[in-house]
Amino acid sequence: MRFDVVSLFPDMFSVVRDLGVTGRAHKQSLWSLALWNPRDFTHDIHRTVDDRPYGGGPGMVMMAEPLEQAVAAARESRASREAGTGVSSPDDSPVILMSPTGRRFDQAMAQDLASGPGAILICGRYEGIDQRFINRNVTHEVSMGDFVLSGGEIAALAIIDSAVRLLPGALNDAHSALQDSFNTALTGLLDSPHYTRPEVYRDESVPAELLSGHHANIAVWRRQQSLTITAARRPDLIAAAREAGLLSRADEKFLQSLAS
Ligand code: SAH
Repeated sequence: MRFDVVSLFPDMFSVVRDLGVTGRAHKQSLWSLALWNPRDFTHDIHRTVDDRPYGGGPGMVMMAEPLEQAVAAARESRASREAGTGVSSPDDSPVILMSPTGRRFDQAMAQDLASGPGAILICGRYEGIDQRFINRNVTHEVSMGDFVLSGGEIAALAIIDSAVRLLPGALNDAHSALQDSFNTALTGLLDSPHYTRPEVYRDESVPAELLSGHHANIAVWRRQQSLTITAARRPDLIAAAREAGLLSRADEKFLQSLAS
């Protein structure tokens, strides 16, 4: 998997390339990263990437041309890398724009990305990007949520991190991603609480079920904790799991007992 990131602040991406789970996966060549700074695709002495908005108003807008050339360079590089075999196939990877007006990013999108070739990620800055660049180049628009960041970099970092950790071999224990919240391969519910040593911390003990050593009981406890937390905080996820046929009769009975 390969990510190509178009950003005015490429330095920000050393975080996912060098640290933690994603850093280790990068060292193992499970994924690669290429950075494209629109400033390197300008042709004036000031290396201008932005200009004032038509129609007036505050702030600046990123110009289409340097972004489009950066995307073209990324595409070309992606295609020629595959040409290691001597065959050059055009790159048809998604071009994803970070944008508060996009579709809300979720675990299913992370899973899709993790099973594909990667993507070209576009990070906006200032008030946004000339719409004609978006119309001509962008295949998907993705938002991190209903809040505004000062740039798309943190959104792109989140996307890369969430996809890379799903690559086979990225996590030390392959089962840990299975247990995570939102895993629609299981129930898509929220994760249950976690505990580690000591057994008693400031008068609060680890729940007895987790100390029992009885695997089936532990699984039931975790499932019920998931159901309890999800019903309280994200009833929409319970409804989705029910709709997808992912709740057992025991789950439904437990949920009923919560409601009464
Ligand atoms: N004027 C825009 C916000 C611009 S913020 C608006 O109101 O919709 C500058 C850049 O930050 C955007 O181009 C986008 O790339 C990024 N950004 C801001 N908030 C984001 C969010 N919630 N999700 C993804 N990207 C975001």
